[in-house]
Amino acid sequence: MRRAVYPGSFDPIHNGHLEVIARAAGLFDELIVAVSTNYSKKYRFSLDERLEMAKSAFASLRGISIEPMGEGLLAEYCHDRGASAIIKGLRSSSDFDYELPMATMNRQLSGVETVFLPAESRYQHLSSTMIKEVATLGGDVSDFVPKAVLKRLLAGAPRPDSPGGH
Ligand code: ADP
Repeated sequence: MRRAVYPGSFDPIHNGHLEVIARAAGLFDELIVAVSTNYSKKYRFSLDERLEMAKSAFASLRGISIEPMGEGLLAEYCHDRGASAIIKGLRSSSDFDYELPMATMNRQLSGVETVFLPAESRYQHLSSTMIKEVATLGGDVSDFVPKAVLKRLLAGAPRPDSPGGH
């Protein structure tokens, strides 16, 4: 049984993440999408909302589970779950520069390997931060997020006729 963990804050989950999940699920028997919480970080969506949006993005969750990761060490989480690999999506060389030392540290801590999947070109520019910013300013992000995420983003976006809106 080959099990992998795909960690992230998923605040919110977007199509770049979903595309990586679909590819990773094809490489492993089981994929755990681990939704992290870092108490020093400010999130737009609560952990429950981030979990719910991630779950509702899939018609079927065969081979994929979506779990909260807590605040502990990723290497330990992988060890506890019997996962042999961590999945990371790479959008750019700066993602790689940031991820490489963590991948080495995680391998040294618990033997877990990191598998890098290059971002699909259509989604290479996407980040949760950019999606939140564009949606907040009234931009159309419907090509980049699943329906449940769009609904929540629109619920928080300014209406065109509201003060400060366009
Ligand atoms: P964010 O989307 O804000 O960068 P996350 O922490 O939620 O941040 O990202 C989780 C994982 O998804 C990371 O491995 C990150 O590199 C990857 N990822 C993020 N955006 C994309 C994208 N557009 N395409 C592929 N992988 C991505």
